[in-house]
Amino acid sequence: MFETHTVDPQEAWKTTLNQLEIQLDRGNFDTWLRDTVFLGCENAADGQGVSTFTIGVRNSFARDNLQHRLYRSVRRVLRDVYGTEVELRFEVWRADESRNGSGNRGENIGPIFDPPTMKQPDRTNRKVGKPPQGELPESHLNPRYTFDRFVTSNANMMLYSAARAVAEEPAARYNPFVIYGGVGLGKTHLLQAIANESQQSNFRALYIPSEGFINDLVNAIRYRTTAQFREKYRSVDLLLIDDIQFIAGKESTQEEFFHTFNALHIDNKQIVVASDRHPSELELLEDRLRSRFEGGLVIDIQLPEFETRVAIVESWAQERGRSLPRSISEKLADGARNSIRELEGLFTSMLATMDLADEPFSTTAAGRVVQQHESARARQVKITIDQVLSATAATHNLTVMDLTGKNRSGHISRARHVAMYLARDLTEASFPQIGRAFGMRSHSTAMHGHERVAGQMQEDEAFRYELLALRERIIKGE
Ligand code: ADP
Ligand code: MG
Repeated sequence: MFETHTVDPQEAWKTTLNQLEIQLDRGNFDTWLRDTVFLGCENAADGQGVSTFTIGVRNSFARDNLQHRLYRSVRRVLRDVYGTEVELRFEVWRADESRNGSGNRGENIGPIFDPPTMKQPDRTNRKVGKPPQGELPESHLNPRYTFDRFVTSNANMMLYSAARAVAEEPAARYNPFVIYGGVGLGKTHLLQAIANESQQSNFRALYIPSEGFINDLVNAIRYRTTAQFREKYRSVDLLLIDDIQFIAGKESTQEEFFHTFNALHIDNKQIVVASDRHPSELELLEDRLRSRFEGGLVIDIQLPEFETRVAIVESWAQERGRSLPRSISEKLADGARNSIRELEGLFTSMLATMDLADEPFSTTAAGRVVQQHESARARQVKITIDQVLSATAATHNLTVMDLTGKNRSGHISRARHVAMYLARDLTEASFPQIGRAFGMRSHSTAMHGHERVAGQMQEDEAFRYELLALRERIIKGE
């Protein structure tokens, strides 16, 4: 039977929105759906097949979210209201306020915010109050990560000098400055050294892991605080983004990062980025962004040679007021062939073992520590979040269920934070993945846990010790 639609598609969308407003939680609806507009509908020729609705959304973020997270809920309701199978297409659509108030369609690659050069009045959000008063946005810097504490060698001299130059004269020479290389070679240390140093000279430096950037961006859109977001990221002299590989594949985040990047670059501000691989290998990174990175100074970070590794161990011992026989430093330096973090693990493990057993330092003991470490490596175990959970639970006299559960009492939640920290440190999981593994928590909860522990490690040597010892146990698969 030939059937025509009795419902006007525009009305159908309105009704759908009304129903979704009831069904979805308030935050979701307000953030992603309230401002959507009906742009068109193509009915299948026979009136029976699939009708395609085109819906305008505020920005590419909303588009991605509707497409990926809310698509099925929206389609289900619309199908019931409209009476046939439906598909939805979301398009970025902006009311063009400056001209005639009519829509501006299809411009789906524009910035959420205007580039600063346009010097337009800030219309991004009238509801939001004043941006924070001239205060430096929070930047969690580890005070230990300074240039002084970065031991140089032939292998990393050029990198080190470039980093210093960037800290002393931001945007003067190497902009953007990209450091890439494997885990535990000192990228974060150098980024934070640049931030620490430039802050000493009263530059405003903002260091943030890329997950933090993503988090802020999502919140800015959700809570409509885009003005503060822009203020935070575009009012700095140096923006240092760590582990940029985590924004690969996140189209809309890259989009906004690209605009932030351009805005800063035009304003002659310094951008520093760390990545675990060369920008050309960040496969999902948009070409535009990739070529921006490659246009700057791109340097890889290498494992320092043996002599330097020995010097690094000696500097650590000295910092802790311990003197190590050279033979021991050499043993450890020889044992760490992959990263300085590995070296740090060996060093801590050795101190912990010696202290606990009340044994004097000896080359034999150092050899033992290295050997244990090597046999763990030889088994080539990739550490999983589950392993981190069970080891952390065991050392805290808890169960894995305690860690992934809802109980937030002091001891449990501290252990949970430790496990989150170690999960990030030892596995390849991102914060969103970690959040999910910890009983479907959000990525910001995981980040927060990580941050708390990182902070406490700086302040509390005993805590740091304990944590690194646990870390070693997990690596050894104990
Ligand atoms: P990445 O960010 O590349 O994974 P990190 O910056 O976290 O590595 O470095 C791992 C550890 O090694 C940190 O504790 C850091 O201080 C230390 N480290 C790395 N390189 C050096 C170096 N050249 N001198 C002293 N310490 C270093
Ligand atoms: Mg790092």
